[in-house]
Order: sequence, then C-alpha cells, then structure tokens
Amino acid sequence: MRKQSGTTGTRGKAEKNIADLYHRSAAVVDLACISRNLQVVRKKAPGRKIIAMVKANAYGHGLIRIAQHLASAGVDYLGTAFVEEALELRKAGLTVPIITSGPFSKFQIGLFIENDIDLTISSVDALHYIREAAEFYKKRVNIHLKVDTGMMRIGIRHTNAHKLFAAALQAEKYLNLISIFSHFATADHEDLEFAELQLERFLEATRFFDHEHRPSPLLQIANSAALLRMEESQLDMVRPGIMLYGYHPSPFSQAKTKVKLYPALSLRAKIMYFKVVLAGSSVGYGRTWTATKNCRVVTIPVGYGDGYARGLSNKGQVLLCGKRYSVVGSICMDQTMIQIGDGEAYIGDEVQLIGTQGNETITAEELAKQLGTITYEVLTNISTRVPRIYINEPQ
Ligand SMILES: *Cc1c(COP(=O)(O)O)cnc(C)c1O
Repeated sequence: MRKQSGTTGTRGKAEKNIADLYHRSAAVVDLACISRNLQVVRKKAPGRKIIAMVKANAYGHGLIRIAQHLASAGVDYLGTAFVEEALELRKAGLTVPIITSGPFSKFQIGLFIENDIDLTISSVDALHYIREAAEFYKKRVNIHLKVDTGMMRIGIRHTNAHKLFAAALQAEKYLNLISIFSHFATADHEDLEFAELQLERFLEATRFFDHEHRPSPLLQIANSAALLRMEESQLDMVRPGIMLYGYHPSPFSQAKTKVKLYPALSLRAKIMYFKVVLAGSSVGYGRTWTATKNCRVVTIPVGYGDGYARGLSNKGQVLLCGKRYSVVGSICMDQTMIQIGDGEAYIGDEVQLIGTQGNETITAEELAKQLGTITYEVLTNISTRVPRIYINEPQ
C-alpha cells in the first residue's frame, strides 16, 4: 500500500474527504473563509451597512450559494452588476435587498419593479422614465443615484449631480431615494491622491441635501480597496467585493494594510492519465515543449475552457503531493499536461491548480501575476463547467 502523501493528521483526513466529493474537477469554496473575510469587513468598517458584491457569479465562487451564505450572515444588501443576476437571486428565493450597480436597458425596468430589485439611476432622463414606470405599476420604487466623480464609466457628472438629486426629490411619491453612490478609479493604487479628490467631489456634491435642509440619503463609495485603506471613505455603507473572497484588490493594499484575508476557493482536478515521455518527444498542440530526458507526464482534465488560462502554457505550476510541478506544452481546451520528473503519481490523485497542499500554496494572485492580469479576472474566468463544491457550511 502506498502512503497517503501530502497533508497529515485531521486536516489530511478532511482533504481526503473533499477529493471524494468530485470525479474530475471542482472549484471548492470554503464558506468558513467567506465568513472570516466578512468579519474582517465588519472589524474594519464597524457599524457601516454592507453591500456584499456578488456580481459575475460571486467572483467565480457561485452566485446562489455565496449569496445565501452572505444573506444569512446578515449583510444588508447584495450587489450585482446586472438585473439578470439579481433575478437569479430572487428566483432562488432570496428576499434580501439587492442593488444592481451596472447599466440596464429601459426595456428591463419592469423586471426590476416586479421583482423588488433596486435601481441605479445615472441620468435625469432615466429618472423620468423610471418614475413613469413606477406610476404605472403603482409601486414606490427603491432607487440609488450614481454620481461620477472621476471613474468616467456611468453616473451623472459630480458638477451636475444636483439636477438629478432635485429631480429625485420631486418624484418622491414614486421613487424612494435610498442612497447616493460613486466608484473609485484608483483606491487600489499606491498613490491615493486621485481617490481622495474623488471622495471630496462626492462629499461636495452630496452637500446638496444640507443646503436644501433635507435628510441625506445613505452615502456610499468604498470598494474593498477604499474600505481597507481610506477609513474616511466608509461613510454610511461599504461595497466590498474581492476581499470577501479572500484577496486584496492589489499588492499595494496588502503591503500597506497588512490585513489578513482568507482565500476561499481552491481549484482542483484529478489525474486522469499517466505516461512516460521519452527524451526528444514533444507534448501537446504545436509541439511547444520537448522532453530533454525521459520523464513522467500526467494529464489533468482542466483546460482553458474551464478558465485555466492558456497563457499559463509552459509557465503555470500545480500542486501534487505537496510539491510544485510545471505545466508542459500548450494548455488545451479541456486538458493540461504536467511534468512530474521522476515523481510518483497515480490516476485519481488530486492536483490543485489554486490552493494549498502541505507547505505549498498557489494563489489566484500568483496566476494573475504570471498572466499579467488581476486576481479578479483569474477568479471570474473559472467557467460554469467546473462544479462548485461548498465546504464548512455553518450548521
Ligand atoms: C465590483 C464593484 C465593487 C467591488 O469592488 P472590489 O474591488 O471587488 O471590492 C464595488 N462597487 C461597484 C460599483 C462595483 O462594480
């Protein structure tokens, strides 16, 4: 009998059980990590209302289960980019308030109103036709106003924002103005000067309500980066995304704040094939790698079609038995080859493409660096073909 390699003790046992939960590949999400990251949010932004961002399939972690977990952990709002994502949440039975921060077509307004999904309004025009729709549905609709303070994506320009605010107050009978928000362009950079300017512009614009002697709606601007590094930007509500999943928005954020977060996702696959490649033989499409000496090569059933980027061809590493081994050849759509030298491996052994085995860890951040992109993209690219498995669910 071969010894169980890698981890030991009770953790080893738990790891073995996870491998029993899937046959081919899995994105394993540790819900206890999400809870711990939420605790970090609460500790860093005490008393602030929380909009937990779950757009793009909860940053690849699986929309519904993550949303359910966060809702039962007591977040005030869930945040999606689009109404379709919000609809999925309603269809799954979630009753927590949902804000969609991205743009929508006017043909979709009915979907918002019928399903109690809050609307983000970025122009006086949109405000008028949403008011009309609300009147038609005989419903008072929850709205949030988006002010552009320098991101230049969507939102009314901060210098014109008073027009939108005034129009919203005039439509009060139909529109319930919940919050005003803006979004930072550089809160994850080393230099926070522009972010501070954006915050100033935001606060200046929203002084409108003081001048009008009207109670201010809730104010919100902080994403993970700002929540972590610009306490003064936390205001009434915060909108953390990436930090809930256990990653800092950028290496600067990590270096400056020294806040520990807990990556929740591991990407795993089982070895499906084993062979010896003789010196001089090439591996894979395009013959981009040739063995210089006889070696063992294993094949795992994960490729760029699963979100394991082709840019990692001949570059990426994976963990097997607590050791790092290299991807060889071009990553295929469905499969990837790994060279293990004269290492031991058996069909069915677990490989981690993102995750921890023994003393070795490969993070989404490491892959992002190799690919010249950001952690967000590595995580959201994990495709729906990869089953999501949830562990450490609260009892
Ligand atoms: C994605 C998003 C966030 C969350 O950003 P993180 O950097 O992931 O914390 C917050 N607000 C808006 C409007 C967003 O689109």
